[in-house]
Amino acid sequence: MTTLSTPLHEQLTALCSDLDTPFFVYDLDALSAHVSQLTAQNVVKLWYAVKANPLSSVLNTLDDAGFNFDVASRGELTQVLAQDIAAERVLNTGPAKSPAQIQHFLDAGVTTFVAESLNQVRWLNDAAQQHQTTLTVLLRVQLRWPAGDKNPLGGDSLTPFGLGSEQWQQLTLSDYPALDFAGLHIFQWGNMLDAAKLASLWQQMVSPLKALSNQLGMTLRILDLGGGLGVPYEPEQQPLDWDQIIDSLAAIKAEAGVQELWMELGRYAVAHCGYYLNPVVEQKENYDEHQLILAGGINHLLRPAVTGQAFPVQALRASAAADRQYHLHGPLCTALDHLGTHPLPEDLGYGDWLIFSQCGAYGFTESMPYFLCHELPAEYVFKQRQLYCIRQSENADYYLR
Ligand SMILES: *Cc1c(COP(=O)(O)O)cnc(C)c1O
Repeated sequence: MTTLSTPLHEQLTALCSDLDTPFFVYDLDALSAHVSQLTAQNVVKLWYAVKANPLSSVLNTLDDAGFNFDVASRGELTQVLAQDIAAERVLNTGPAKSPAQIQHFLDAGVTTFVAESLNQVRWLNDAAQQHQTTLTVLLRVQLRWPAGDKNPLGGDSLTPFGLGSEQWQQLTLSDYPALDFAGLHIFQWGNMLDAAKLASLWQQMVSPLKALSNQLGMTLRILDLGGGLGVPYEPEQQPLDWDQIIDSLAAIKAEAGVQELWMELGRYAVAHCGYYLNPVVEQKENYDEHQLILAGGINHLLRPAVTGQAFPVQALRASAAADRQYHLHGPLCTALDHLGTHPLPEDLGYGDWLIFSQCGAYGFTESMPYFLCHELPAEYVFKQRQLYCIRQSENADYYLR
């Protein structure tokens, strides 16, 4: 399932013969080709959701392709600005924007915000007045369907992201003269792999959002549809077709009558460029199960434990042996440390390596690297067909006090 190029495979094989701790590698050549294709259209303005992978060289690759940057914390902002990306190209989303954080973002020159509460609107206006500036603000809307109606979102559980239409209607826009209310933001779905279903979901958002903007007396110039474009984690899944997505977005843009359509992409932009390489410590048979015990687990790759969905995996070396079903376990002393059940060659053992794919998004920085004091994973990039180490593996004494 991996799409490793031959030079990358050869260099990784050589590197693994010298290492005994897990590491991540990001194929920036593949990333660059992919993200340049995403920006080669004029239907949707693309922001990169930095939380998917904040590594500097990943940010630089997206910058080169013309992405802007969606940041949700001071740390992400610092990291983006450190790449010489202008603050005008930053969008601030996130449910916990305190007055102090808002001040910090204004001091740094950020002028575009997604407001998620009535307090955030007030604090943004106060800060803008103090800075004698005008901010571009999108209101984040969380839609619900009346009980009994067919709900396009499936479940109806509330999240802290944004507010319902009814709550936003309490707002009198003219009370906030330092804010330019330019549009609405909506994002209530995740990891969608069905282009037709996505199109239908977006389509059903248009009329409630237009109704809200009318009620608020706001011209809907910008519609931001968030992220949520999925990537295949299971062998039988197919990737989304970008041209089909763009056709659907063009139709939504026309129907909503907006000047600009925005999206913040995380997973769909970067997942496929990343791999996690993990040494096999041993194979054992336990009752009727074959278990592979690995040097790294959810301490480096937490997502399977929180979503129940494993990353795809292969053995790094070719093997003529038949496959068998293995349960993959990491080094943590908890049964939660499970990286899935996968078919892999029967002859795997100490000294072999597994390579997990789709690890460019929601990998290392989503994980819990401190638990049990194992090594932090190294991070490498593959650029112009060469491997470079960005950060070596570190022992626990690197951070323990
Ligand atoms: C996480 C996030 C995204 C990106 O989501 P993906 O599913 O990775 O594309 C986009 N927008 C916001 C506001 C987010 O919090």
